[in-house]
Amino acid sequence: MSQTFDICIRGDGIVGRTLALLLARQHLQVGLVTQPRTVKADVRAYSLNSASRDVLSQLRCWPDPLHATPVLEMQVWGDDGGSVHFESPNPDGLTWIVDVPALEGHLGDALRYQHNITLLDAPHAAQLTVICEGRLSQSRQDLQVETEVLPYQQTAVAARVRSTAVHGQKAMQWFAHQARGLEILALLPLGGAKGDTYGVVWSLAPARAQEVMAQSSKDFTSALQDASHLMAGSLELISERACWPLQLTHAKQWTGLFADGSAWVLAGDAAHSIHPLAGLGLNLGIADAAQLTHVLQARQGNDFWRSVGDRQLLRRYERARKAGILPAWIACDGLQRLFDHPQSSVQAIRNWGMNSFDTLAPLKKWTMQQAMR
Ligand SMILES: Cc1cc2nc3c(=O)[nH]c(=O)nc-3n(C[C@H](O)[C@H](O)[C@H](O)COP(=O)(O)OP(=O)(O)OC[C@H]3O[C@@H](n4cnc5c(N)ncnc54)[C@H](O)[C@@H]3O)c2cc1C
Repeated sequence: MSQTFDICIRGDGIVGRTLALLLARQHLQVGLVTQPRTVKADVRAYSLNSASRDVLSQLRCWPDPLHATPVLEMQVWGDDGGSVHFESPNPDGLTWIVDVPALEGHLGDALRYQHNITLLDAPHAAQLTVICEGRLSQSRQDLQVETEVLPYQQTAVAARVRSTAVHGQKAMQWFAHQARGLEILALLPLGGAKGDTYGVVWSLAPARAQEVMAQSSKDFTSALQDASHLMAGSLELISERACWPLQLTHAKQWTGLFADGSAWVLAGDAAHSIHPLAGLGLNLGIADAAQLTHVLQARQGNDFWRSVGDRQLLRRYERARKAGILPAWIACDGLQRLFDHPQSSVQAIRNWGMNSFDTLAPLKKWTMQQAMR
């Protein structure tokens, strides 16, 4: 007899896996459609906030302190003397830099021990299908969901480097307007409190990105040292390099019905993707998973008579999350465009703005609290 599922999740990235584990705890039968990995190990390190940490800790998937480094200090430099400095009010940290393979490993182990989840190699009929296939989602395209796509003319290059000095749990970021366009470099501390390695995310014009991808290790680290003004010490490349073209994506419709009457919703990068400059994309995707779980949990109370494919419940999810992503969307897109502007008057204003912001303690504290959640 063929197995039946309440929910079929298409895509086993971090959002799909997190959602499967959250829903299985509601005693729902979940089918998770997986796809063979094309890359060996993800070299990225994600900055995750306390809301994501709470969700992943509940699932016992939060990595140990060596693989989730709390950031105690963060400094961002503009392109003409502007800078903003944040300090954590407590040892917990402003955010955590999480090793992606470690997090994926914990989620993979948790899936194996969860009897309500079945791994599938193709979609299966269910009352509700959740599409978590990432920003190039084929299912979203097949459903002809209208999607706004704004390419940034930037490519993010990611890698890992080791420094001659310990990082002191400080994350650093530089915005620089070069002749070949905007360059944004982030060095994210890895390896725990005493670590000396960084995750690199370097957003560059596509041609420049191709150039640094092809450089020898020595030339690559020397270019990184120049871009970081040697503030992280002498660097050595310790991983492969990988790159991603960057774009802002936003699906106009997040929920609907298949021809057979069953429901679908989008979550994670399949619904929205943003520039990685603020390290928010996955945080938003995990918040989608938590919100959808919360909305479906209403069936254990007053809404007990509704099915998991109930349109009203799913619209509640869509409304809540569209409102939830808006501030991050505006902030990331606005910052990218502000620093991409070539005029020197705009350059002066943005650097003056950074320095002024740095002196406004209450505004800085409020911004920090928003970003931490
Ligand atoms: C360089 C870079 C740095 C970043 N840094 C940060 C950061 O610091 N903090 C942060 O919060 N976010 C960050 N992000 C964003 C983050 O990577 C994404 O938001 C996150 O990976 C989205 O997760 P997802 O599960 O929705 O999609 P994905 O990670 O794209 O996963 C989708 C999964 O679905 C699978 N799939 C696709 N199609 C199908 C199909 N038809 N059937 C079955 N499976 C399918 C894919 O194989 C994949 O495993 C960064 C992004 C980039 C590019």
